[in-house]
Amino acid sequence: MRAFGLVLRTASSLVARQQSRRTCGSASPNRKNEPGFGLLFDIDGVLVRGKTPIPRAKKAFHKLVDSNGQFIVPVVFVTNAGNCLRQKKADQLSHILGVSISQDQVMMSHSPLKMFRKYHDKCVLVSGQGPVLDIAKNLGFTKVVSIDMLRESFPLLDMVDHNRRPKVPSSPVVNLPKVEAVILFGEPVRWETNLQLITDVLLTGGNLSNVYETSHSSHLPLLACNVDLMWMAEAQAPRFGHGTFMVCLENIYKKITGQELKYEALMGKPSELTYHYAEYLIRTQAAERGWRSPITSLYAVGDNLMTDIYGANLYNRYLKERLARKSGQAVQQALTGTGASVSQDEDTDNDWESELASPSATSCKSILVCTGVYNPHMELLRDTNHCIKETVFHGHRDFRFEPALIEPGNVVQDVHAAVELIFEMEKFPTQI
Ligand SMILES: [Mg+2]
Repeated sequence: MRAFGLVLRTASSLVARQQSRRTCGSASPNRKNEPGFGLLFDIDGVLVRGKTPIPRAKKAFHKLVDSNGQFIVPVVFVTNAGNCLRQKKADQLSHILGVSISQDQVMMSHSPLKMFRKYHDKCVLVSGQGPVLDIAKNLGFTKVVSIDMLRESFPLLDMVDHNRRPKVPSSPVVNLPKVEAVILFGEPVRWETNLQLITDVLLTGGNLSNVYETSHSSHLPLLACNVDLMWMAEAQAPRFGHGTFMVCLENIYKKITGQELKYEALMGKPSELTYHYAEYLIRTQAAERGWRSPITSLYAVGDNLMTDIYGANLYNRYLKERLARKSGQAVQQALTGTGASVSQDEDTDNDWESELASPSATSCKSILVCTGVYNPHMELLRDTNHCIKETVFHGHRDFRFEPALIEPGNVVQDVHAAVELIFEMEKFPTQI
């Protein structure tokens, strides 16, 4: 995680330098209309359903740009999708919303993997669909093996579908390096093949020529992106997401070994890491635009209680606790009369927090829309405090169920109403 911190701190000092240069420049920016807030938009169920744009999404985005088509507030799209490159997603959004979106505004569930440099030179097995090899290489991984490559090298392993079994006796063609880590990007097409081969890799320590070793208490590092159990497409009911695939893998592993499957990292909403990274993108965007007002409020607009609302509230809790810690330290300094400033290292008390650039935000407010997974007419979801029991918690196994975290700050009909509400709350002058 050292390299992770280095990357963000270097980028952070670049932002600081840009800000400092602007402060010294002759032009005096009009800070009155500068945004002190940033927006995080989920995509599926908020802007589109499948390939169909949500009505009024385009209208909402016209409020967010000036007459030159430039954003008047920093905006990041935070999606748990992970089956394409950021540029492709940016192009799709530009087309759907009628405004120009750059890839730097798009955060996929796998984007934080760029920071996991300790795995970039190790041989990693990737699972998912779409251009997984390109995605992995784009993130910095240099030795990447796909499930199909494993199938070809070990033709006797994928036996569920009788039609895919080898027609003639085959022996393994061992020309692949030993797998050292597994990355789950998203749900694959052929679940049975991926479940079988990932289990094989975990139980053989990455060398499929070995026999199963089920007595070990640990397994190869496993990193997973997108823990969504379900997502909303054009169909009336939600569809299986990558979280459902992970439930299968976790249960198969536990049934065979008696041990819990452990993740080195979980990425995508609702993980804190994802919001920390999204906030960093917001700050970078504001600095690039020359906005000097600190971004103190974040608004996260989403359709999923377990993902968007839980994640935003979890990050909000982190920001509040951080603020309280800082105030406590300031009081302590005043009492002891040291007057010394708190250094970045002293300012943090856990590993990953100290590795990331400090956030400027002090709150992250959640806004739930009714155009996706959340259905205000379903009794189960109407009163989350009373109706959702732990037995129907749709969050991932490693996230604790807590009713307060799935309580949205606001509920609005759609993304247009969300933008109007945010502008009103911020008293931000509208362009149109
Ligand atoms: Mg969604």
